[in-house]
Amino acid sequence: MKPATRLVHARTPDRGNAKAVNPAIQKGSTVLLPDSAALYDDDAYVTYGRGGLATHQALIAALCDLEGAADVQLYPSGVSAVAGALLSVLEAGDELLMVDTAYKPTRRFCDRTLARYGVEIRYFDPTLPAEDIASQIGARTRAIFLESPGSLSFEMQDVPALAKLARERGVISLMDNTWAAGHLFKPLAHGVDVSIQALTKYVGGHSDSFMGSAAARDPQIAARLRAGVVDLGWSVAAEDAYTMLRGLRTLDVRLRRHGESGLAVARWLAGRDEVAEVLHPALSGAPGHDIWKRDFTGACGLFALVLRPAPPAATSAFLDALELFGLGFSWGGFESLVIDCDPQLKVRTYCKAYGGSLVRLHIGLEDPEDLIRDLETGLAAFRDAAG
Ligand SMILES: *Cc1c(COP(=O)(O)O)cnc(C)c1O
Repeated sequence: MKPATRLVHARTPDRGNAKAVNPAIQKGSTVLLPDSAALYDDDAYVTYGRGGLATHQALIAALCDLEGAADVQLYPSGVSAVAGALLSVLEAGDELLMVDTAYKPTRRFCDRTLARYGVEIRYFDPTLPAEDIASQIGARTRAIFLESPGSLSFEMQDVPALAKLARERGVISLMDNTWAAGHLFKPLAHGVDVSIQALTKYVGGHSDSFMGSAAARDPQIAARLRAGVVDLGWSVAAEDAYTMLRGLRTLDVRLRRHGESGLAVARWLAGRDEVAEVLHPALSGAPGHDIWKRDFTGACGLFALVLRPAPPAATSAFLDALELFGLGFSWGGFESLVIDCDPQLKVRTYCKAYGGSLVRLHIGLEDPEDLIRDLETGLAAFRDAAG
């Protein structure tokens, strides 16, 4: 062979790899097939790499186990998992019942894109009893989308009751379960048809990669999700699939630490004069605590607090005085983060008046005593600025 041909055909001999603890990062667009009959035999062979190879298969198998699912689809981000799942189950002329406290980009996708394709979106108040929410189901309602606890304000929904009422009326239920990371609450076991999460958050766990997943048990719904990913051409990198699989190995211990530290900080905040209310479903006496206790096996590190009424400058003084809490969106990584939520609440239809500023905290893996000391400094700055 000439040098140019040898460069192309010099391959690693196929001796089989040594068995490591972790899967190989298998990258590939083209897949070589054993004979001409196999080229068009999609049932027996993986014929192209877009849908994922060995690393993706290992991650999908682990996520099927986590979710109690028959199949799981991977998406390049959490937002694309939400968009992909909705596009897979909805048609023009359908109505979608959407929780008013959905993650803001979920709402943006509904209002800007889904609406353009002829889907009507009706927002519902998550604090209504399940029967009152289900009574909003109409002849054209195809699906209901839940997120519990709600984004930023942590309202708990009676998911098993809503999933049951939806199923009785032939409505598909979907849930964004990012807060529970597929681990602290099991949507499919509680009757939800499609369980979605941003793996970007706790599964990845290190604030360094994006991915989303959608899981289903019902074979027809699973097939629709798969067709959606195939038709839209979404693909995720093998390196990112590897990162997510590695994150799964330590998910349980990380969530325990996030949850315990989060509760310790929440309890401390609840005793402070500067704080009007702590919105943390695992805190006894907090809104939604009974549902959390019934359905969840733990809490993550994400919750909110309402500062006592004060001028906006006092909220800024609080945020800017914090040293260990980074000012940044997203959560689920090893680090503590804080944002004020008020600008994001404006788009809501049923927004409650909290009186003071709503502030969201993500409690990371630092020692909670250091975090409390940092918050003490922040609250002192708040007091000074509030006068
Ligand atoms: C972050 C987040 C998403 C989106 O995930 P990305 O990977 O950032 O696109 C979806 N839902 C919830 C509840 C989230 O917090």
